[in-house]
Amino acid sequence: MTSASGSEPRFIGIDLSGPILRAAIVNNNGQIEERREVKTEADQLLSQVAQVVSELRGVNANVEAVGIAVPGLVNRTTDRVIASRDFPSTVREDLHSEFTKAMGVRVEIENDANAAAYGEYKVGAGRGSRDMFYVTIGEGIGGAIILDGKLWTGASGFAGEFGHITIDTEGLECDCGNTGCLETVASGPNIVRRANERLYRDGTSSLSKLAINKNFTADDVAHEAKNGDDFSMMMIERTGKYIGTGVASVLNLLNIERVVLGGGVMDAGELILNPIIQEARRRAFQPCFEATQILAAMLRADAASIGVAMLARDAEA
Ligand SMILES: [Zn+2]
Repeated sequence: MTSASGSEPRFIGIDLSGPILRAAIVNNNGQIEERREVKTEADQLLSQVAQVVSELRGVNANVEAVGIAVPGLVNRTTDRVIASRDFPSTVREDLHSEFTKAMGVRVEIENDANAAAYGEYKVGAGRGSRDMFYVTIGEGIGGAIILDGKLWTGASGFAGEFGHITIDTEGLECDCGNTGCLETVASGPNIVRRANERLYRDGTSSLSKLAINKNFTADDVAHEAKNGDDFSMMMIERTGKYIGTGVASVLNLLNIERVVLGGGVMDAGELILNPIIQEARRRAFQPCFEATQILAAMLRADAASIGVAMLARDAEA
């Protein structure tokens, strides 16, 4: 790039939340200019990240900061990853200092859901709102709160754990120790569990396309629902109702102007969005419901890498 814009600052956003490391050069407007994707190796994470950053800085030398989105709780004050199911403990403790050393540039670490929320807020479905609540439905269910342009992370950095709102006091035990969390019915693996239980029980559901494929994922359920598979449509609708139940509580609590929902299951489009909205309407205090817009996320798999790059841009240097 030879134009004047070529010398504007750039930011690298890296998303470590999935099996594929997604890295991108993001410009000041939140647009991706260059990307790299690598299969992550847990024991080589640090060198993989350093390698990809070095490659991207080779493409554009104006990289001012690197943002890294990690699947775990991050204490931004100490820059420590407190809890993460995917990172070995040795990696977590000194992640920030190790990354900074390896890359020789300012590094910001953020929770993946917070990062994706910030991406949607700045350049996606949250654009134009002042306050936004973000939900991501994947292996777990994440949430993030943005108030007045800033991530609201709570007293110790862990606000927005939407997946652990209790929706069934007699429900299944959750990884967090509670029972009946939203995650125990509506996370990706739990959508699959519920679908399998029902396929096993119910003779008519053997007509479902899912019954043919034993190793299906929640994303498959979403896709088959979109293709018109009755059983998958029903599973997606019920999942939407559970999520809408949680959203209603959030609306009552925050009277928030926008709710943005992301994650692979949202690929089912209106089939999941409508039941979410209907259930939120049915359960929330009416003035709270009427003040809100509930939308599907726009940035899909790029949300966290764009968001964490924007966070690196906006963080105090
Ligand atoms: Zn829980």
